[in-house]
Amino acid sequence: MTLRFFTGGINHETNSFSKVPADEHRFRLTRYGRGAEILERFRGTRTVYGGFLTAAETNHVTLTSTVSSFAQPSGPVVREEFERQMALTLEDLREALRTDGVDGIVLGLHGAMVVAGIEDGEGEYLARVREVVGPDVPIGVELDLHANISPRMAELADILIGYDTYPHVDQYDRAIELLTLVARTVRGEISPTSALRKLPILAHMTVQNTASGPMADWLALCHEIEARPGVLTATITGGFPYADIPDVGMAAYVVTDGLPELATQYANELSEFAWARRTEFQPRLTSVDDAIRAASSSPGPIILADVADNTGAGASGDDTEILRALIAHGANSAVLVPMYDPGVVAEAVRAGVGATITTTIGGKVDDGGGAPLEIEAYVRTITDGWYSNYGPMSTGSRTGMGLTAVLEIGGHDGIEVVCSSVQRSPHDLQMLRSVGIEPTRRQIIVVKSSVHYRADFGPIATEIFEVDAAGLAAASWARLDFQNLRRPIFPLDPDMEWTAQ
Ligand SMILES: [Zn+2]
Repeated sequence: MTLRFFTGGINHETNSFSKVPADEHRFRLTRYGRGAEILERFRGTRTVYGGFLTAAETNHVTLTSTVSSFAQPSGPVVREEFERQMALTLEDLREALRTDGVDGIVLGLHGAMVVAGIEDGEGEYLARVREVVGPDVPIGVELDLHANISPRMAELADILIGYDTYPHVDQYDRAIELLTLVARTVRGEISPTSALRKLPILAHMTVQNTASGPMADWLALCHEIEARPGVLTATITGGFPYADIPDVGMAAYVVTDGLPELATQYANELSEFAWARRTEFQPRLTSVDDAIRAASSSPGPIILADVADNTGAGASGDDTEILRALIAHGANSAVLVPMYDPGVVAEAVRAGVGATITTTIGGKVDDGGGAPLEIEAYVRTITDGWYSNYGPMSTGSRTGMGLTAVLEIGGHDGIEVVCSSVQRSPHDLQMLRSVGIEPTRRQIIVVKSSVHYRADFGPIATEIFEVDAAGLAAASWARLDFQNLRRPIFPLDPDMEWTAQ
């Protein structure tokens, strides 16, 4: 028998320290769609919706999509915009219930959304959906690895599944896993029961990399637990530390087949493991000057990660601290990708390719990561900013960084700045190749990213330095003014004790 599933999701990762609101324009700039059109846009891609579409076929499920949206991380979602998208979502849900019926719900939500006046954005989304469908329709949610899972989310959904990877290269696979489990639930083959444990740890983005270090070991245990009898799925999350809310932080979550005590036991086991390794979830950083000196003196390409200005974590993307230092050091064969400054791109377009402009770049969205910087730059390339992702992340999908200019500072072998008109973080080497820069031929590559760059940039780098700069996604906790976290939390309260029991 064919099952009828409903899908959708409002996605945002909220950085409480950003003053940039997530409004309708910001959603439309990244992703906003409703109905069959948005589903079809993702067919054949290794994304959440791509996975739902594949799994729908194998599980004999027809999918109906409501609003599916994603705004580039920033400050909280504007309340009116959340209410507008939510109203459309519930309207579509009621319509689906009225016409064909709804057997199950699979959602793609981020898990770290804060709405103005609502700290737990996903909890609120799920509460409103649950209210319309009632207690009996199974709800499954795919979450980001940076989700700040709340007890309310775990209570309202039957199954949560977070990405296992950071860089997030398994969105597609987790979507297939989720839809399949929800379909089995609807068919009465399994009865999911879950347990959530929140961990009082602020884990930095840079150490949530699942390829190595404590996160890799924690994930190995998670997979081992998933393979034990009675376990349907398990999720560990690093959390998104820049959301200054009580539910911030790491979590362990286990779903068993009708065995609630076993779910609790395994969630505790996962939590104790991470707690024992808590000191390893803190960043190891290099100062800006030391990183540039080291990167100038060994064979390249050497990557400097400006983690503090990762727009993927809600930073402004126009911090100038590292560019200023590159110029001061007289760096050669260096490229910085990207610098968000639509005003400078417009100036470059007016001056034209081949012109030299004198202008002030960066520090305009937020000057906490360095004041605006005076530069004289040669305009080498102007493009429409579109490229296809060929690397392991979101393979096959297209990314637009808006009208884009490549500026050269300090001559042909000096510093190239990829200046974008839209905030984007570098996940794919095509961000450089599409504007005529061959990354393997450069000495220093500065990426405004925490970890995602590693999937595609990592293999070409001889070395990587995570740089301690100022910015809205600063790696040093001391640079951020937390007000609303649930205390105690490690490492802000370094001597605290905790047990999962
Ligand atoms: Zn993430």
